[in-house]
Formats: sequence, structure tokens, C-alpha cells
Amino acid sequence: MKPSPILPGSTLGVLGSGQLGRMFALAARQMGYRIHVYSPESDTPTGQISDLEVTAPYVDLDRVRAFARGVQVVTFEFENVPSDTSRACAELVPVRPDGEVLHITQNRLREKMFLASHGFPVTEFRRIGSLADLEQAATDLGLPAILKTASFGYDGKGQQRITTREQLPTAYAGLGGTEGILEAQVDFGMEVSVVAARTLDGRFAAFPVFENAHSHHILDITMSPARIPPDLAWQAEVLAQGILDALGVVGLLTVELFVTRDGRLLVNELAPRTHNSGHLTLDACPTSQFEQQVRAVCGLPLGDVTLARPAAMANLLGDVWIDAGGTPRWTAALEDPSIRLHLYGKAEPRRGRKMGHLTAVADTIEEAILRVSRARERLVQG
Ligand code: AMP
Repeated sequence: MKPSPILPGSTLGVLGSGQLGRMFALAARQMGYRIHVYSPESDTPTGQISDLEVTAPYVDLDRVRAFARGVQVVTFEFENVPSDTSRACAELVPVRPDGEVLHITQNRLREKMFLASHGFPVTEFRRIGSLADLEQAATDLGLPAILKTASFGYDGKGQQRITTREQLPTAYAGLGGTEGILEAQVDFGMEVSVVAARTLDGRFAAFPVFENAHSHHILDITMSPARIPPDLAWQAEVLAQGILDALGVVGLLTVELFVTRDGRLLVNELAPRTHNSGHLTLDACPTSQFEQQVRAVCGLPLGDVTLARPAAMANLLGDVWIDAGGTPRWTAALEDPSIRLHLYGKAEPRRGRKMGHLTAVADTIEEAILRVSRARERLVQG
């Protein structure tokens, strides 16, 4: 029997309390849901706009169970939640996506092995458990190559580029005794992502492909539609659908892809949630990625994901506050009426910390990029 949808008026539980949870909570509240959030921190971006903020360690399973008893479904905005935490929730309520999706995607090695074994294209990789493994892998894959920690990596954290064999011992030491993965370096022309949703009964919807430009390994600007040929965009969407189906995702999942210089797609990473690159959907699509997550985890019909006009999003890192000498010049940025400002309610700006973003929607993608970049520059100009 098909489970009944979780209707507005119900309470949704979120594990993790950052900006992704905040924007999910805003979308959920708009639709009449209540929000409870669980994380080890207090006064968080999500907690500030939730009905209940529980501050407790993820490993405190009694608190986790008490939290789960108060909600109709649990989702997460942060995939590095321990497996035991999602398992404890799953004893009491549906967890979407489920613990198995979390388990696979929180470890790069498991994720790549899952993808490769299901025939999805990935760069060549090897498991690294010792210096001998790394030496052998460097011979097999050639250099340069990228060494990553298998767990807890994001935004390039725990990642080293190796160009010579002399660097191998130091690079191995950098893993700090944890499991690693060596990846052949991809000669890519562009990085893109597909944010897609899947329901319990297998309905699927993908947002248009996002083109992503990084700076110091952190997403800097996203634009959509990606400037790739339509057949490649179609292939990216087909790949995403295959991956969500193979994992049995109920909810959202983001597929990060490389477009190689010879025009092939390789999957870099999966995130079982909304994604920084999808923020422009808040201003450019009838349904945002956050509303889509609400719909998918609640068993409601999925919303319209069409991109109304070309759009670009620029991240605002703590650097903007520091470079502006305290308060960014908000008025100057908003002089352009096409600019929309999103801030995440974080008190302390630090270099590299995601504090907010700007979006511009325009007639052409180039104009959207120009408007959003100029607005961000105006934030720090005297
Ligand atoms: P990740 O944390 O895996 O998303 O990696 C962060 C960034 O490092 C990516 O967005 C790429 O720009 C770069 N990168 C990661 N893996 C590779 C690879 N195998 N080849 C080339 N660049 C990579």
C-alpha cells in the first residue's frame, strides 16, 4: 500500500543546522509545516527559524530518539551524520533519503565503488591504506593525481594534488593514518552539477544543469543553464536519474560532474541533499531546490523545475566582511534591482565561511554573471 503523504501542518525533522537546513525550513514553513532541527550547535542558521532547536551530540541516541518521536519524517542537510544517528531515527519515523544512501555518499571510496560497479563514469581511482598502496596507485594511475581522505571531505578539505613521486611519503602522512583514495587527475574544461529529486514511487525531476566556477576549491559562482551542448545536458540528466534510481533516493541528491576537454562526463561526487550550486533556483525557478526537497520527502507531487530566465549566483564568504573592514556595503550591492540578497544568519565572518549569496536573473547568462559579480565587488569597494 502506498504510504500517505506527510501533509502541511506536520512537523519535519532536520539533522544538521547550516544554511541548507535554513532554506529548507523557510520553504517548509511557507508551505505550512513545522520544523525541528537537531545538531550539536546552538543559535544556528536553521535553528533561528525553526519551531524547535535541539542542541545535542549526534551520538546521544536517547536525545536522537526523543527528537524523532516529535516529527513525522527526518531528512538531513549535512551528510556526515553518523550512521547510528540515522538508524535510531529510522526505528521511529521514515528517514529520507535513507541511511544506506547516507552510508554510501559519506565515504568517497564507497561512493566511487558504487558508481563504478553500476557502470557510471568516474575517473580511475585506487584505495589507499598504506604508503605501499599509494606508491603502487601512483604507478597505475600516473601523476599528477589527487589524494583525498575517504571520509569527511568537502570543499577540497583533506585533498592533495601530487605531481612527483618524491611527494608520496609526505602526502601519505597527510592522511593522518585514515583511509584514502587516489584519483587520476581529470583534465576538465568545466564543472557542472545536477540537482535532482525522486519520490517514493520513482517520479523524478532534475533542475537544469548548473555550471560551477570554484575559487580555492570552494564554489564561487554558479550559472544556469550551463554553457554545454544540449545533448550533453541531456546526458547529465540521464546520468543523474540513473544514479538516483540505483540508490533508491527519496528526496534530493546532487551529482557533481566534470566535463572533460574531449566532451565526456565523469561523476566527481554525490551529495544526498540540496547543494550550494542550486541556490539560484530560489530566484530563477518556480520551485526552489528547498521546496522540492520538502515535496520529495513528504511524498507530495514534485514542482516545476523550469528555469524561467538565465541566472547566476555568487557566494559571499566571510572574506567579504573582512575585506570590507566590518560591514559589507549592502546598499551599493542592491543598487542593481536585479540583485537578490540571501544571508544565513551567521554571526562570525571567517575567511572561507559561507555567509550568504547574491543572485541575478537576466536576459542572458553573461549579463547575469556580470551583474552578480559587479554587485559582489561593490560590497567591498570604498
Ligand atoms: P571535491 O572535494 O572532491 O569536490 O573536490 C574539490 C575540487 O577539487 C573539485 O571541484 C575539482 O575542482 C577538484 N578535483 C577534485 N577531484 C579531482 C580530480 N580527480 N581531478 C581534477 N580535479 C579534481
